Amino acid sequence: MLKGRELTTFRQQLLAWFRQYQRDLPWRRSKDPYRIWLSEIMLQQTRVAAVIPYYQRFLQRFPDIHTLAAAPQEEVLRLWSGLGYYSRARNLQRAAQEIVARHGGVFPRAEKDALGLPGIGSYTAAAILSIAYGAKHAVLDGNVARVLARLFAVQGDLRDAEHWRSLQESANALLDPESPGDWNQAVMELGATLCTPQSPQCLLCPVAQFCQARKLGLADLLPARRKKRATENITLAVAILLDPRGHTLLLPPPALPRGKAAHAQVSMLVSKLWHFPTIAVRTDPAAELRAHLNEILPRSMTKRPLHLEPLPAARHAVTHHAITLQPFRVSATELPRMPGANTILLSDVTSPSSLAISNLTRKAARAARATPAALSARV
Ligand code: SF4
Repeated sequence: MLKGRELTTFRQQLLAWFRQYQRDLPWRRSKDPYRIWLSEIMLQQTRVAAVIPYYQRFLQRFPDIHTLAAAPQEEVLRLWSGLGYYSRARNLQRAAQEIVARHGGVFPRAEKDALGLPGIGSYTAAAILSIAYGAKHAVLDGNVARVLARLFAVQGDLRDAEHWRSLQESANALLDPESPGDWNQAVMELGATLCTPQSPQCLLCPVAQFCQARKLGLADLLPARRKKRATENITLAVAILLDPRGHTLLLPPPALPRGKAAHAQVSMLVSKLWHFPTIAVRTDPAAELRAHLNEILPRSMTKRPLHLEPLPAARHAVTHHAITLQPFRVSATELPRMPGANTILLSDVTSPSSLAISNLTRKAARAARATPAALSARV
């Protein structure tokens, strides 16, 4: 561990580099805890470039905690639509409501209060409290852990409880007490731009002289790769019902009918948002989807066999699920009326001002729009 003069030089060099070369990101222009909190939540598992337009749109509609707390959840999800991991949006709004109810509409300054909010763990609390309020909390996430593991040549699985605890201690010891917010951002920036998972750019690194992994020639090998969770292959059959005016049917979250394990899985894969009738299939997508439609649609629509027109399949990934998406167009003279369901122009399904849908549903809608009816064969 660095101490004394070495530690001072280390901090000075990293902070000077950050202040000169940091990326100009919208959330760095503000110390408003709400804006910092929103950016931290959106950036979880999501690239900076993907987050920026969502962040700006979200703030236009919900400029402060009060407007977010008071909004219909459907609208919050709609503005999150396409960003993925929708529990983040649901938790964000629940936390905003708690902040209004218990903290006077201001993001709490005490760590224990921040940690009591939905969707806020120790990393997020440390990031918000240090950047917005200058509190002395060191951040530790996978990105920071990688930088620390290289600086101190830590071997083994960083997510082991013992390793993680020791990395948190290192992060706490390195934290610059004069500028905790800038310090945390500097370590994160180093991990995001130079000390990247593959091919770290050690020649440009402002703290290369302190790095044990570089000295030992291990920079490319640390941290040790984690064992990946086995990929689960799933095929989903999706029915895009279409009437002659181009309207389609979307089901509300969660999937209908409830209760079966297969439906619970589909509900999770469509992120508990609006979706086309969808089912996980094993052997014959058309036959299994037809059976599912017979089960959920009104008898008036299914008394004659439904024609399912296969559309080009698409690939989709959600966490460790590798999904093959098999959409079918189902032409109908009239769309069924179902409790809670919505009918909407197919061309509007992917519009940002429309209903909240997942990327999986978006891909199915695009497949239907891109394939003229005459080109697809009947099953
Ligand atoms: S010298 Fe290389 S491996 Fe070490 S912290 Fe800098 S970029 Fe990372």
